[in-house]
Amino acid sequence: MSEKITWRENRIIVPEEPIIPFIEGDGTGPDIWRAAVRVFDAAVRISSGGKRKIEWLEVLAGEKAKNLTGDWLPEATIESFREHRIGIKGPLTTPVGGGHRSLNVALRRILDLYVCLRPVSYYPGVPSPVKEPQLVDMVVFRENTEDVYAGLELKSGTPEAARLIEFCEKEFGWRIRPDSGVGMKPISRAGSERLIRAAIRYAVAHKRTSVTFVHKGNIQKFTEGAFTEWGYDLARREFGEQTVRWNETRENETRIVIQDTIADIFLQQILTRPRNFDVIATMNLNGDYLSDALAAQVGGIGIAPGANINDESGYAIFEATHGTAPKYAGKNVINPSSVILSGKMMFEYMGWLEAAELIEHGLKETIARGTVTYDFARLTRGATEVSTSAFADHVIENMTL
Ligand code: NAP
Repeated sequence: MSEKITWRENRIIVPEEPIIPFIEGDGTGPDIWRAAVRVFDAAVRISSGGKRKIEWLEVLAGEKAKNLTGDWLPEATIESFREHRIGIKGPLTTPVGGGHRSLNVALRRILDLYVCLRPVSYYPGVPSPVKEPQLVDMVVFRENTEDVYAGLELKSGTPEAARLIEFCEKEFGWRIRPDSGVGMKPISRAGSERLIRAAIRYAVAHKRTSVTFVHKGNIQKFTEGAFTEWGYDLARREFGEQTVRWNETRENETRIVIQDTIADIFLQQILTRPRNFDVIATMNLNGDYLSDALAAQVGGIGIAPGANINDESGYAIFEATHGTAPKYAGKNVINPSSVILSGKMMFEYMGWLEAAELIEHGLKETIARGTVTYDFARLTRGATEVSTSAFADHVIENMTL
């Protein structure tokens, strides 16, 4: 009988037949979901010998929700994620400039999913623009609820923007052109510390070698600079035994090195010496840019998974990191690897490690044999191009432990 996942004593409790809500997504969302869900079901069935099964519960968001309910993000969807604790989603459309605000950002904020977790590593056979993509093995912790993504923006020409501009001039002597749109970038100590704590805990649990704070603290001293200082303080205070600041390391250091780097040089060094970086902790906007840049080094957003997590409440939503790729919608050609690997992360979070391993193995094997969707086929000599659904068939066929 299917049951809800629950949270007790800071642990997720997963029944043998959990109910998991999913959002299919806009554009190519339905194409990748149809393929991925077959992979998930097969992995669970094979790894548990038929003892476990997921009951998938569709919840609405995006264009489908707007058409069926009149709402882009119905309250029932948010309630369902709250009730079932974890969920998975495809991409959702966000208009640029006007229109509704990002539904992804809204979901992350409403459920306070403050960690955006994006592991980036290389699968042999994936076409890459760099010479040694296998050297990229990083895990990005991107803060999800603050920074310029907090949605504190006023439109140019509105009375609200004019009032804020006037207030800033009167109170702080800040001269802002009157026809400006204005936004705010809050970075709090509490928000920074919980994100950095999650990153260091992960580094300790997974025996990683370093945690790097990526920031623009040289320019934005009281936001991005403060994030970094709070990070060093927290590492010393809460992880004094397990970590060491970069300038205090000893020969043959075994502790986790805490270091920082400015965002612009970081984007150069992930290309020139990716070996230097392991776990990354950063704010929202930097994290957005750098996780796509890193994904490009190992094959692009078509294969980059992601999760949004609050490890204090157990809420988590796993998601494809790419957008809706609308020009391919309904064509059954898009690469479903991003959502498939997000499902693998979900199984790890649930403690269903055998299912996660099966998915990884099936996907790795399929790509290594040169059976790939159009995006990889156009960059790989001798590859066999297959559709989204056929790619999923191959992943399932290649699932052997
Ligand atoms: P996009 O949908 O990610 O697509 C950009 C390009 O990336 C595609 O044209 C395609 O490149 C490639 N691509 C993306 N996903 C792929 C996949 N699964 N397999 C193979 N190639 C893939 O980005 P966008 O065009 O900037 O955004 C479209 C909409 O998605 C916007 O409304 C945006 O706000 C939204 N969005 C949503 C999320 C989310 O829900 N988390 C994230 C990002 C963007 P080629 O054309 O070269 O083949």
